[in-house]
Amino acid sequence: MLHHQKRILVTGGAGFLGSHLCDRLIEEGHDVLCLDNFFTGTKKNILHLMENPNFELIRHDLAFPVFLEVDEIYNLACPASPIHYQHNPVKTVKTNVLGSIHMLGLAKRVHAKILQASTSEVYGDPNVHPQTESYWGNVNTIGIRSCYDEGKRCAETLFFDYHRQNNVNIRVVRIFNTYGPRMHPNDGRVVSNFIVQALNDQDITVYGEGSQTRSFCYVDDLIDGMVRMMNGPDEFVGPVNLGNPTEFTILELAEKIIQLTDSKSRVVFRPLPQDDPLQRQPDISLAREKLQWEPGTALEAGLQSTIAFFKTILHEG
Ligand code: NAD
Ligand code: UDP
Repeated sequence: MLHHQKRILVTGGAGFLGSHLCDRLIEEGHDVLCLDNFFTGTKKNILHLMENPNFELIRHDLAFPVFLEVDEIYNLACPASPIHYQHNPVKTVKTNVLGSIHMLGLAKRVHAKILQASTSEVYGDPNVHPQTESYWGNVNTIGIRSCYDEGKRCAETLFFDYHRQNNVNIRVVRIFNTYGPRMHPNDGRVVSNFIVQALNDQDITVYGEGSQTRSFCYVDDLIDGMVRMMNGPDEFVGPVNLGNPTEFTILELAEKIIQLTDSKSRVVFRPLPQDDPLQRQPDISLAREKLQWEPGTALEAGLQSTIAFFKTILHEG
């Protein structure tokens, strides 16, 4: 055993981000426990790790307690796309709130360091651009996104209370829109929707006028930021924004994807969903300063590897 080898629990480890995180931690020589209930995650994402003696898979629902011995916990379990988290909103709250309580209780008992995958959605439909960590947000408590947004906000509260009250060694990262290989083809997210539509020469569905903006971070950059945060100094607990500050309109994204896929698709306009934020862009000054981190992958390069992934899975049927 390497002397720096740690036993690390990744909840939601069979999901999009979780599986890339498992890859990274295995590459670093750690012992990885991947916990997932396969609600949105799939064994396919981690199949290549199953034979690795440093990798272990636990099928478990985080709404229920679990007892394990670990050094670090990355808490990612939670459906991330609106289609999935709105499927069973009460369950989404339970996963966020009870799941965090269970993981924080575990961290407290075994003295593990624990990182929460929070989200830019804690800023809601922001009145401040770009969003800094000191902005408290503009969130609807009773809308259809609230189970996710408020669930994630409560999780942050729990992290800070366990930190203050029980001295738990915490980290909180607020993730902005991230894309890359292993995104779900049917999750309704803009990057996956547009790529699948473009590859099938179907109409590209732009919601609203397409003038709303997002900033898209490539998955490898994001994972690097998360690992840096976990390994950073104990005094810096966050919350810290992780995302790519380069902003694009949704219409620009549609056009770029049509161009990169050489698609015959045309853009069609559909109604804007309820509570859809008009603008979202991270201010990552804090991550730059404290973690010496910033994303290095340009949208075009990231889209190309994502398109290559979708070509393979669409081919497999
Ligand atoms: P994902 O849906 O691919 O992954 C979530 C994983 O959690 C899945 O494998 C799912 O099966 C698992 N899961 C859900 N409920 C569970 C439960 N009760 N018990 C055990 N496992 C459960 O989504 P993702 O994009 O990989 O997101 C991972 C984390 O990052 C989430 O917490 C999400 O809120 C956060 N996040 C993601 C983004 C993004 O752009 N992808 C942005 C902000 C925050
Ligand atoms: N969107 C779109 N067409 C789609 C899917 C999404 O125009 O087929 C828009 C959506 O209305 C939103 C943006 O793209 O303004 C990002 O949506 P997504 O669901 O990916 O992420 P989020 O709203 O959580 O940032």
